[in-house]
Amino acid sequence: MAVAKVPSQQFFIRGEWVAPARGGKIPIICPTTEEQIGQIPAATAEDVDAAVKAARQAFTRNNGKDWSRASGKHRAKILRAIAGKCFDYYADLAEKLDEKQYSPIEVPMEQFKSSVLRETLGVIGLITPGNYPPLMGTWKVAAALAAGCTAVLKPSEVASVTCLELGKIAQDVGLPLGALNIITGLGPEAGAPLSYHPDVDKVSFAGSYNTGRTIMKAAAETVKPVTLELGGKSPLVIFDDVDLDKAVEWAMFGALWTNGQICGATSRVLVQEGIAPAFLKKLAAWTSSIKISNPLEKDCHLGPLVNDTQYQKVKDFVKKLKTKAQLSSVVERGLLIWRKVTFWNRRFSLMSLGNKPPPGLGGAVISKDEGRCKRVAELLDAGIVWINCSQPCFCQAPWGDDPFGWYPASKL
Ligand code: NAD
Repeated sequence: MAVAKVPSQQFFIRGEWVAPARGGKIPIICPTTEEQIGQIPAATAEDVDAAVKAARQAFTRNNGKDWSRASGKHRAKILRAIAGKCFDYYADLAEKLDEKQYSPIEVPMEQFKSSVLRETLGVIGLITPGNYPPLMGTWKVAAALAAGCTAVLKPSEVASVTCLELGKIAQDVGLPLGALNIITGLGPEAGAPLSYHPDVDKVSFAGSYNTGRTIMKAAAETVKPVTLELGGKSPLVIFDDVDLDKAVEWAMFGALWTNGQICGATSRVLVQEGIAPAFLKKLAAWTSSIKISNPLEKDCHLGPLVNDTQYQKVKDFVKKLKTKAQLSSVVERGLLIWRKVTFWNRRFSLMSLGNKPPPGLGGAVISKDEGRCKRVAELLDAGIVWINCSQPCFCQAPWGDDPFGWYPASKL
């Protein structure tokens, strides 16, 4: 099947499409055919600076009346015009923010009054990863704009095109110029200058642990707050009272959805001893019937990993398993595949295995016994625990922290 070429791309800065200052380009490689299908511009510090300036001007323009000090109701109208679902949810929060302004605080001395004015933070740098790029971008952009911030989004260099589409929509709905800016490029050249830029007030990042650590260090130079949504190795605990078909289905979905490229993938599967052989047999049969092909084909079940680097990484994990026997039964805990972001399974008798290194970003438990599910969910050391499912994710529910303390389920 022929793969369509991606039209030429530019940065979205101050509401306009602009070329990179140094003219750099990064090829877009189709992960299925490995053909080059286009190019994205490669930002450097000069482009980052232009985008941050645009965001700062948008933040302060007309004394903030155009955006940062406009009512939440005004911002909500524009967010709703961008899209339904996630933008709608944040539009609601922007409106609720108006109602919360100057909320009184009870103080113990009658002669004083105290109230809270929620101030907008400023220019936010948003750095997002290569998996589900528009979702990651949207969560962060919608939260930043709803709070009255202005933003510079730097999506992953391996999956930028869908995020650039947000710029087109912003233009269509009349988002104030510069309120959202999108630059593309490599981490060290485009992401790094954004993370230490002195005029960026906060960095919100989703991606790998190591990059998160680098960003935190860079942001510390200018004492800016950071939100880090990182990776982990999430457990799925399956008890022997389950409907086996359902358990196998969730195990597969929890680890293979979006071709296995999931930050909260429940790929550390712990199966209670009694059902382990039957579970493994079914899992092996069902997974071997998965059709891996071009995702543009109608009957494709599973597409490719995002690029060859990721593919080689996964192959390398598999290579490190010493014998073929290990592939179908017990995996030693020290093995890389058990700890890294890949799909694996293991029998269990010890609950503590669910929390063994590194802790999961998420976790899941499958059992017909509701009380047991609740107990296990509380024991798992994870940011989110699914019960009798794996992966459903809602912007209304918490994911990561809440830097403002007043925004339920903020993704900013
Ligand atoms: P990555 O850390 O390699 O890259 C993420 C982003 O950081 C990219 O935009 C990249 O260009 C940028 N970057 C790289 N080096 C940088 C630097 N020195 N300074 C500033 N920015 C830099 O991650 P990835 O491979 O794109 O994504 C996969 C990882 O993301 C996995 O670990 C996954 O678990 C995690 N993830 C977490 C969440 C979450 O919500 N917690 C969601 C999705 C993905």
